[in-house]
Formats: sequence, structure tokens, C-alpha cells
Amino acid sequence: MSWSFKLLRVAGIEIRIHVTFFLLLAWIGWSYYALGGPEAAVDGIVFILAIFGCVLLHELGHALAARVFGIRTPDITLLPIGGLARLERMPDKPAQELIVALAGPAVNVVIAAILLLTLNTGFNPDYLEGLEEPQFTFGQKLAAVNVALVLFNLIPAFPMDGGRVLRAILAMFTSYGRATLIAARIGQGLAFVFGFLGLMGNPMLLFIALFVFLGASQENTMAQMKDLSTNLRVMDAMMTELVTLRPEHTVADAVEALLRTSQHEFPVLDIDGRILGVLTRNAMVAALKEHGPDVPVAEVMHTDLPVVEAHAPFEQAFRLMNSCQCPAIPVVDYTNRFVGLITPENIGELMMVRAIHRDEDIGEWRARRMRSV
Ligand SMILES: [Zn+2]
Repeated sequence: MSWSFKLLRVAGIEIRIHVTFFLLLAWIGWSYYALGGPEAAVDGIVFILAIFGCVLLHELGHALAARVFGIRTPDITLLPIGGLARLERMPDKPAQELIVALAGPAVNVVIAAILLLTLNTGFNPDYLEGLEEPQFTFGQKLAAVNVALVLFNLIPAFPMDGGRVLRAILAMFTSYGRATLIAARIGQGLAFVFGFLGLMGNPMLLFIALFVFLGASQENTMAQMKDLSTNLRVMDAMMTELVTLRPEHTVADAVEALLRTSQHEFPVLDIDGRILGVLTRNAMVAALKEHGPDVPVAEVMHTDLPVVEAHAPFEQAFRLMNSCQCPAIPVVDYTNRFVGLITPENIGELMMVRAIHRDEDIGEWRARRMRSV
């Protein structure tokens, strides 16, 4: 996620923190300072760091539950309203997704229970009201925050855990795509309610509304893609009519090709047709500014892109695209020679076409596509 940086590594998972977390830190520091001077401000910040710890444990709950089903979590990003564990993929079985989604809030239930038991007090909703007030102890307030985290995360809307719980339950009765569509609609309906209440004078709700609305559309796109791409192979979706470059071509040559074609990503191949890298439009512009037009493309191209095999299931390329956030993924054949390219636009187009030909037989689609290239 952009606007975030790496903090530490736990159990092979990169823990990242989003810059807006510091906004929260500053805001809490300031409101405590206004109430009780520098000492209170320090208390406030320590408290926020404790919340930060609880959010992290919540996300690790998701990540470790996913690991049980063989799914890796490359990173966790901490945001002021919670964390975001980026799972390599979602579990395929609804029951597994349900467990992964519930594992996070379950951690906060456990933390709250432990705090309340050791403090020997029952839960008092006033703790939440009094977050900025000194009459409640650190432990009481932290317990309240954990209860709030559970309630917030169980709102049945993407990207909250509640949205996934809802989708997993629906997916037990219908297809994954349809379950997501229904869950996303419910989430967006809730976003409007939050937005409306927010306009009545609660800016935080307005913020949540926006967050939920965007989360729902994103989740829906992903799920429809997953439904549509079933049975497709990488070769059914890749672009094959491409202008390619040689490593000794200059950026000026690449710009010329950019203007001549509608292509934005140019594969750079060696003499045997093996992929060396990909030059993107952005890299071209940056290279022009920094080095001028005569620098060889080999020096400015992306060389760290993963490749995918042409006969591999399309979903593999799609997952790879999501997890590496690459501008393009080169496709190779059995002999490791370059045969095509998968790009985000190309995936978008595939989605559009497949949505129209939804019920068409895959074999027929493949045959027709092969005839046309
Ligand atoms: Zn969660």
C-alpha cells in the first residue's frame, strides 16, 4: 500500500505502518495535551501505541488463521481505523474464509476478556465515552477499545471483517461472485446510511462511509474477476500483438514506438527471444528526464517482474498481478521464450468481454480467439 513504510517483520510477515496513523497520534497527543499538559500527552501516546499493538495482534490473528489453510500473508499495514492484512489469496472454501475473517475480532475479544478479568471489573460502556478522560484506568480504556474494534470490524460491509463474514455465509448458498455482489450491495447501502448520519454532524462516520463504499466496489471487482476467470488459461487472455525492443535500443527508439502504437509496456528481448525486462511508459518518461533520449533501454527497464507460463491457469497471473502490483507480467512458453504480456488494462478488457460472453463455452471462446491471432 502506498503512503506506508516498513516497521518490522513478524513470523515472515512484513509489518507496515500507514502515514495517517501518525495523524491519529498527533491528534490524540494534542487533545490530551489540551486536557492535561505534557504528561497527559505522553499518556495519550502510550495509549495509542497500546491500541496499535492490539490492532497488530488482530491482523496477526487473520494471518495465522490463513496460514493454517496454506495461505501466506506478505504484509500487514496498520491504518488509524484498523489494520489491513494482505493475504496472498482468499480461501476458496466459504467455511475457511469465515474462520479467517473471524480470527481477527476473536483476538480482540480475548484481549478484552483478559483485561476485564485481571482488572476484576465488568464491561462499562462509559469507558468508551471517557477515552479522553482521566478517571478511567489504562486497562479499562484499552478493554473498551478492544470491544470497539470488535464492533467496528463486525459491521457487515467490505472491507471490514463483517463484510467477509457475510460473504462467506452467503457463499455457502450461492456462487462466490454472487455472494460478493450481494454483500457489496449491503455494504454500500450501509455506506449511504453512515454518510447520511455523518452529514448530520459526525465527520468520522462520513470517513467510514467513504472507506466502506470504496472497499465494497473493489472487493466486488475482485470477486467478479475470480468468477469470470475460472477455466481460462494465461494464453487465452494475454496480449500477443506487441512491439518488442532489444536491450541496445535507446529510450528515443522506445518513445517512437510508444507514439506509433497504443502500447504502454514494451517487452525487451534478447536475441533468442527471451525476456530481459519490460519498459513502461512511466519509466520511459522518467528516463527521458533523468538521462536524456540516448540511454539504452536495458538500463532503465523493469527487470524484477515475475513471469508466468502460457499454459498456467489465468488465475495465477491475476493473483501475481495483485500481489506484486506489477505494471505487466511477461508470459513465456515451455522453452522460456517470450510469447505475450498480461497488463492491468488487458485484464480489464478481458473482464468486459467475458462478462458479455459469460455463458459461452470456454473451448469455443478459446478456438475463436486462436483463429483471430
Ligand atoms: Zn480484521
